[in-house]
Amino acid sequence: MYGQCILCLESTELLTEEHIFPEAVGGNIAKYVLCKPCNDELGRWVDAPYVDQKHIQLARVAYKIKGKTGNIPQPFSETYSLNGSDGQLKIKLDKDFTPRVVPQAPKVWVTEGGEVGFSLSRDVKDRKDIPKIIRTVLSRFFKSEEGKRLGWSDEQKENAIQRAIDGATRVEPRSEQIKSPLGGRWTIELKALFAEHIKVIYEIRCLEFGAPYINSPSGGRLRAFLRAQCCDEPEPWDLKDMAKHLNVAPQIPKDLDGFIKYLTNGNPHTHHIAVVTPASVVCSMLGMGAVFHDGDLDQAPGVADIVKVYISSVTGGKSGIFCLHELLGDGQ
Ligand SMILES: [Zn+2]
Repeated sequence: MYGQCILCLESTELLTEEHIFPEAVGGNIAKYVLCKPCNDELGRWVDAPYVDQKHIQLARVAYKIKGKTGNIPQPFSETYSLNGSDGQLKIKLDKDFTPRVVPQAPKVWVTEGGEVGFSLSRDVKDRKDIPKIIRTVLSRFFKSEEGKRLGWSDEQKENAIQRAIDGATRVEPRSEQIKSPLGGRWTIELKALFAEHIKVIYEIRCLEFGAPYINSPSGGRLRAFLRAQCCDEPEPWDLKDMAKHLNVAPQIPKDLDGFIKYLTNGNPHTHHIAVVTPASVVCSMLGMGAVFHDGDLDQAPGVADIVKVYISSVTGGKSGIFCLHELLGDGQ
């Protein structure tokens, strides 16, 4: 489709379909507003970091939102540490939350008595692989400088491998039950949340108000902010300062909050919503909101000022772009 890309402002034959709310979190309103390179850049630097946030992943699990790959993420997929009786283990949770011991690189050493010692941690489910692993690890060790210094014959080496395998098969698994808590730490990047809201707000304003908005100072500020995100090391910025500069507030104005609850049947966490008024866009995604005003922050928009509402249900409810009377169902 021919048109002007709203990010780089180039005119192109090939505008691509952009999901206003990210597709990976169940956004299903798409518009041809970006050229391919800009669409890819925003996907990589703005949408992906947002979608990767832990609480967003949790929401995707809760509402069974599949990504482009058809998969629902596993938010607990980090590696955790566990203090067991035999030291610290690394644990990972499978898709079905079953814990598994993460294999650690085997250590081999020569004991004071001139024997070969080694340590290896494997999940009990991988027990059958242990003889093979021992053979590989020790054979490699015998070829190393340290191993060669032992001066062992092939027979001695083979005996040592056999002894190690026999010893390992006699070891009973320490525990198949995790009794102590799994330790780990999650971080949430406010910046990623903020940038995604700015993207949605900018795109909606461009769609609703067209060239006058795109060419306005306000449009220019948001566009510059988004373009600045699209690199490895965006310029550092202060969240508070930016919020003031862009007039973004972290909460939905009171009367609109009630309206959003009305639209979502009291479940704002299962929807992406943007409410457009002449001077502002209120954007709420999975229960977290931002308000962008062109004018003074004190002039909170009211229900009566609403021009349009963008709703995208992540659980299969009403989705699309609506005028107020359509949503209130007065049939005008
Ligand atoms: Zn572009």
